[in-house]
Amino acid sequence: MALANENYLKTPEIYCFDDIDKRVNAYKLLHPTAKIIRLGVGDVSRPLPAEVVKAMHAAIDELSVADTFRGYSPPQGYDFLIEKILKDYRSKGITISKESVFINDGAKSDIGNIGHVLGRDNIIAIADPVYPVYENATIMSGRAGEMLDDQKWSNIVYLKCNEQTGFLPELPEERVDIIYLCSPNNPTGTSMDKTELKKWVDYALENNAIILFDAAYQAFVSNKEVPRSIYEIKGARKVAVEIQSFSKSHGFTGIRCGFSVFPEELIVHSQYGGNVALNKLWSRRNANYTNGVSYIVQRGAEATYSRKGKAEMQQLIAYYKRNTTLIRNQLLREGLTVYGGIDSPYVWFKIPGDMPSWKFFQLLLYDYQIVATPGVVFGQAGEGYMRFTGFSSYEDTVLALERIKNQF
Ligand SMILES: *Cc1c(COP(=O)(O)O)cnc(C)c1O
Repeated sequence: MALANENYLKTPEIYCFDDIDKRVNAYKLLHPTAKIIRLGVGDVSRPLPAEVVKAMHAAIDELSVADTFRGYSPPQGYDFLIEKILKDYRSKGITISKESVFINDGAKSDIGNIGHVLGRDNIIAIADPVYPVYENATIMSGRAGEMLDDQKWSNIVYLKCNEQTGFLPELPEERVDIIYLCSPNNPTGTSMDKTELKKWVDYALENNAIILFDAAYQAFVSNKEVPRSIYEIKGARKVAVEIQSFSKSHGFTGIRCGFSVFPEELIVHSQYGGNVALNKLWSRRNANYTNGVSYIVQRGAEATYSRKGKAEMQQLIAYYKRNTTLIRNQLLREGLTVYGGIDSPYVWFKIPGDMPSWKFFQLLLYDYQIVATPGVVFGQAGEGYMRFTGFSSYEDTVLALERIKNQF
C-alpha cells in the first residue's frame, strides 16, 4: 500500500479560518435575517481597477487571433512585467537584476514552496503570533520536529512578539538559519522601521542566516521611516528573499499574481559542492515544477504600473485605509490597547476584561453580529487579542463601529 507523507498529518485538518466560517454558519442558521458584518477576513472587497480589466480584456483578444496567440509563458515571467517591477524598484533607489525576479501565482505559493530549495536541517524561526502559512509549511516539509505540550514545535524557534516588544518580533537568543519576517505585519498590523529591519539584516549577515521577507502589504506603508522593500537596507541582497503580491494592493486575491526576488548574491551552503546561489536552485525548481502564470494575468499585473493604474491603486489603498483609521481611532478613544492600523489594513487590539479570543469572538458575533479574527488562531501569543481588518466596505465598517460604540 502506498504510504502517506506523515508530515502532512501533523498539521490541523482544517485551516484555522474554516473554524470561523463554521461558527458564523451556525449563527446564520439560527438567525437567518441578521445582517452580519465581516471585519475579520483578510480578503479584499472592492472590484478590480479599470486599467487592469482593460488590459486583461485586450490580452484575451490577442490570444483569440492566430497572429498574436501565445502559448507557454517564460518560466520566470514575461519581460514586460519584470521590466515594470525593476523600474518600480529603481524608483525606490534599489537595483536588482532581471534574473532575480520570478513571477508567481500569488505569494502563498512561494512561501510554501521555498522549502523545496532549502536543506531539511535548517532551523526555522517564526514570530508568535504569525501568518499561519509559515508555520504550516515548516511542519509539512518535515522541519518542525515534534509538537510539545505548549502547542509549539520542537525544531521551530518562536520569536517573542508581544506587548512588551510592541508586537514586533525580537531577535532569537539561539542561532537560526531561516527567518520568516512580515512587515507591515499580518496579523498585528505593526511595521518595522529602518532601524528595526536593519537589526535583522545584520543578524542574518553575522549568522549566515537568510530572511524570507513577506512584503505583501508594502503598498499600505505611509510612514517614511518604514521600508517598502527589505533591499532598502544595506547588505540585504546577500541575505533576503523578498516576496510580494498584487493581492491586497490591487484586488488580485482571486486573479492570483505576485513575485519573488531571489538576488544572485544570496548564497547557500552545499555540503558537497561548496556554495551555490539560491537563485539558481529556485530557477531550476521553477523550470521543472511550474509553467508560470497566465499571459492574461501578467498583462493585468503590468497595468498596475501605468500612471492610471498607480492612481487607481492609491484610491483602493486609501479606501481601505480610511476604514482602518476609523476602526483604530474608535478603539483608541474607548481606551483599548491598539496596535497596527497605520501602515497596514489590520488593527490588532487587546480584548477588554482579559476575555479569551474565542469567547470574545462569540460575543461579537452573537451580541453585535460582527465577525472578527481571534488572535489565538495566529499562535499562543495572540490569545487575548483580536484582529479587525479595513477590507470591508466603508458603509459596513461605519455600521459595525456604531454597533460597538461605548460597549466595552
Ligand atoms: C494575504 C497575504 C499574502 C498574499 O497571499 P497571495 O497568495 O499573494 O494572495 C501573503 N502574506 C501574507 C502575510 C498575507 O496576509
